[in-house]
Amino acid sequence: MSMSKSGEWIAIENKYYAQTVRRQPVVIVKGEGSRVWDADGKEYLDFVAGWAVDNLGHSHPAITQAIVEQAGTLLQTSNQFYTVPQLQLAELLVENSCLDRVFFGNSGAEANEGALKLARRYGKLNRDGAYEVITAFSSFHGRTMATVAATGQPHYQEAFQPLQPGFVHVDFNDVEAIMNATTDRTAAVLVEPVQGEGGVNIPADDYLQRVREWCDRQGLLLMLDEVQTGLGRLGSLFGYQEYGVEPDVMTLAKGLGYGVPIGAFMSKEGAMALVPGDHGSTFGGNALTTAAAYAGTKFLIDNDIPGQVKAMEPHLLGRLNELKSRFSFISDVRGKGLLAALEFDSDISGQVLTNANAAGLLLNGVKPNAIRFMPPLTITAAEIDEGIGRLEQALAQI
Ligand SMILES: *Cc1c(COP(=O)(O)O)cnc(C)c1O
Repeated sequence: MSMSKSGEWIAIENKYYAQTVRRQPVVIVKGEGSRVWDADGKEYLDFVAGWAVDNLGHSHPAITQAIVEQAGTLLQTSNQFYTVPQLQLAELLVENSCLDRVFFGNSGAEANEGALKLARRYGKLNRDGAYEVITAFSSFHGRTMATVAATGQPHYQEAFQPLQPGFVHVDFNDVEAIMNATTDRTAAVLVEPVQGEGGVNIPADDYLQRVREWCDRQGLLLMLDEVQTGLGRLGSLFGYQEYGVEPDVMTLAKGLGYGVPIGAFMSKEGAMALVPGDHGSTFGGNALTTAAAYAGTKFLIDNDIPGQVKAMEPHLLGRLNELKSRFSFISDVRGKGLLAALEFDSDISGQVLTNANAAGLLLNGVKPNAIRFMPPLTITAAEIDEGIGRLEQALAQI
């Protein structure tokens, strides 16, 4: 039997690519809206969406057009000079958030690196040299050395000891733990509004407000990692709006890019401790990526996509809860906006994903016993129903 086209590409990956990522055997060649197609022409509903990146779905005309136009006009100039799309995106983000300033990099990890540098500088200037950042267990902040140290999950860290010092980890959703960990070395608290990579962990409604109050009392920066929750994912433009708090610093990436690589950190005027010469980037904020991010964010805001997400949340969670009542091995359903997880009573994620792929559905195995849903924010109720139907087939074979 001759090998499928996908099989041929996978053999090339095995031979040439660094084997650092666990992949599923799906070679995606094309996407449109909430669907993608593999190298053999098989169609899938995409509930991964580039890991919560493709918030307007695949090949959205607003993004494609912005990229094509910008590519024919100007790609990259270096930040030694000013470019217009960068400034349009900066204005749009600041005018639609509680933050006053923004810096553009190329990824979520890089956005967090910038925020962590800002926290160190802030501590030096305002807290007598304080440099520690309190972060949460089960958090995820990236794969660079500083963000690996910030991430509160040992399995991302063990191979890379010794870690960069200056991070203290406490339980998520536990304000007292933050209070107990605060010392005169503490400069900032860094948490996600909802933990994504850690398994879609949703805190108590008043958690962030209470953290905010503590940071205010102690003069600490509250830094929110909104790389996954930002740009509509939770049903508001930014996750902090769901919880009635304003961070001093916020990081963005994933959904900000609509498919192109971009990250950002934003801060209140009074928190922007970095000064000329402290930070920079060759590619960060270049004309191509910021033109795409501007077009996507403008579309997202003008068409109230976060409002659509809020309206779709009960539908998705309702359908997932129906599955829970049908399959006894589903132990939990949780979610906010269009970020959700199904938890199983044993480690069957891998098997569920394999079955789901066969049924034409892409999902993320967020934990050995949990799968994550992060479809495009433009997904329709009919597409959710179709995806749930395919998932039901996959679960029925367990
Ligand atoms: C994905 C993610 C990151 C890392 O982003 P990269 O672009 O992969 O570097 C950081 N923080 C959170 C909350 C994330 O979900």
